[in-house]
Amino acid sequence: MAKTKLTLQDLAAEIGVSAARLKQILSELGISEAEAKRGLDDETVQAIKEMAQELADELKTLALPRELTVRELAEALERPYTEIQKILMTKYGKLLTPVQKIEPELAEKVAAEFGLTVQWQAPQPAEQPAPQPPTKAVVSGEQPRPPVVTIMGHVDHGKTSLLDYIRKTRVAEREYGGITQHIGAYQAEVNGKLITFLDTPGHEAFTAMRARGAQVTDIVVLVVAADDGVMPQTIEAINHARNANVPIIVAINKIDKPEANPDLVMSQLAQHGLVPEAWGGDTICVPVSALTGEGVDTLLEMILLVAELAELKADPKAEFKGTVIEAKLDKGRGPLATILVQQGTLRRGDVLVVGKTWGKVRAMFDHTGKQLDSATPSTPVEVMGLNDVPVAGDRAERVESETRAREIVEERLEAEKRSEGQRPMRRVNLAELFKQLQAGETKTLNIILKADTYGSVEAIRDALLKLEKPEGVELKIINANVGNITEADIDFAIAAEAVVLGFNVKVESAAQNKAKASRVDVRVYRIIYELLEEVQKALKGLLEPERREVVLGTAEVRAIFRLSKGIVVAGCYVLDGKIVRNAPARLIRNGEVIHQSKIATLRHLKEDRREIPAGYECGLTLEGFDAYQEGDRIECYEIQEVER
Ligand code: GDP
Repeated sequence: MAKTKLTLQDLAAEIGVSAARLKQILSELGISEAEAKRGLDDETVQAIKEMAQELADELKTLALPRELTVRELAEALERPYTEIQKILMTKYGKLLTPVQKIEPELAEKVAAEFGLTVQWQAPQPAEQPAPQPPTKAVVSGEQPRPPVVTIMGHVDHGKTSLLDYIRKTRVAEREYGGITQHIGAYQAEVNGKLITFLDTPGHEAFTAMRARGAQVTDIVVLVVAADDGVMPQTIEAINHARNANVPIIVAINKIDKPEANPDLVMSQLAQHGLVPEAWGGDTICVPVSALTGEGVDTLLEMILLVAELAELKADPKAEFKGTVIEAKLDKGRGPLATILVQQGTLRRGDVLVVGKTWGKVRAMFDHTGKQLDSATPSTPVEVMGLNDVPVAGDRAERVESETRAREIVEERLEAEKRSEGQRPMRRVNLAELFKQLQAGETKTLNIILKADTYGSVEAIRDALLKLEKPEGVELKIINANVGNITEADIDFAIAAEAVVLGFNVKVESAAQNKAKASRVDVRVYRIIYELLEEVQKALKGLLEPERREVVLGTAEVRAIFRLSKGIVVAGCYVLDGKIVRNAPARLIRNGEVIHQSKIATLRHLKEDRREIPAGYECGLTLEGFDAYQEGDRIECYEIQEVER
């Protein structure tokens, strides 16, 4: 091939492999994608072709041990054992249970049904670990680890069904009869490799964790129903994954349905920047059915492929670190927390500090309910022995002793108490944006936009992107969608340091509370122009912070004293709150404001005072006023900037 500038897709098409496969081969040959795009010489192209052929041949042969049960053969063929039993019975008249041995000749015939030739392996000495696929040179103590996958997508597109199907077919049943437990995550086995699935589908869990600073997901599987297409939550999921920099694999689900239209889904995905490989892009799209299982194996293979390219590694010998996936209080067993091991090894007996609680790992279990003594990276384990229930997203660390654990937790609780009265965490907000931009604290204004119709979403998005920006400042719309402002939007805003702008939508009450507690700037508009103007002003530093008046106290005039030099003092009784010298104040007579200025002097029993609380008498003067009458009310107040 001549040395001309190519795209990876051109090259893949020329060689006759998928772009993903090509990436895999390039990585094995140590050729960077950039290098490949510049053009490859004929020799390298030939080498790639040969490797692709070898891989294709490899895929057509199946290495099996001679001694093998029906279940093992089924696993090797990646089919349910019931299907193998059915073939054996209907075609060869053999009725075998899953644990019965199958004769080699018969196994060969069954494999041939699936277009595979068997390559018999030499017997291996017992206890020897299964041969691992070749991996790249391992630096330090780092070892490849299983990918952690979250399934996202629109409601009813089949996330739960897909997770259930994979769990049913890929989680090895153990002899001790353990029924799979719901612990918030499970590990599936595919071609001898593991994939960790987080078991709470949807983006709420994903974002809630990210909002707490925890990122555990390596790959997002985006489920899109082929009979429904790209929907609002599909777009939201794409934005979440992008914002978190997590690669997306698309599972086009429900292809068993007659009305399924995968092509339409792919064109919709392309419109949202996920151009399918088949169309020259680099988004892997796998048509599947969570109902029949069609395509699910390919999906799993693709997950492994993407994981391999990402070279996910962790050091099992390093200090243990993990994150809580979910936690609950069990009546009999006490607090239970599912912890995903991210680094190092978690062992029974370890003393852990987990968020604001601690404990000793009294026992731990995997997703099949099996007790484990230790757990390595990417393994989710249910841990028993904590003193309290932690929160999803809490970090778990190992400490040397229970005394130290107690100390750390006490310090954390103390620090939290101390910071409670203080100004809470700083967040991006429009009123302070310019200051933050100038101080170099931020360079990007991230916006989450919610509006009532697609038309307004598009119009506002386009107009926002056209706003004038100070040099070096970027405006990013990280999510734009139709619908009310929900708690998930606030979580996303926390995770992504964004402001939330609504147009003709409501802020759900849970979202309102969360926004207030976590100081996320949420603004809702009825007029597009006002929204745009406010953002423009914020970018230019012209947005006035919103102010609010807070009444400090009210006093009633009970007597009037005329002093020498014509000074008139109002003798008052403080009814509520407090009266503060120099604070702005107004005089109200019969419900009408007569005068507005400030408290000029304030005395109690002839002594100057800074403030006088309710229940006391005082003598005061208002600046520029002396026509007090008995029964007048004096209200003093202060102006506060509205904290958003
Ligand atoms: P989730 O809300 O995304 O978790 O969706 P579910 O897994 O609960 O599925 C929603 C509905 O779609 C259920 O009635 C499923 O039985 C059905 N469903 C899911 N996957 C498939 C599929 O591949 N084919 C068909 N025909 N139905 C499916």
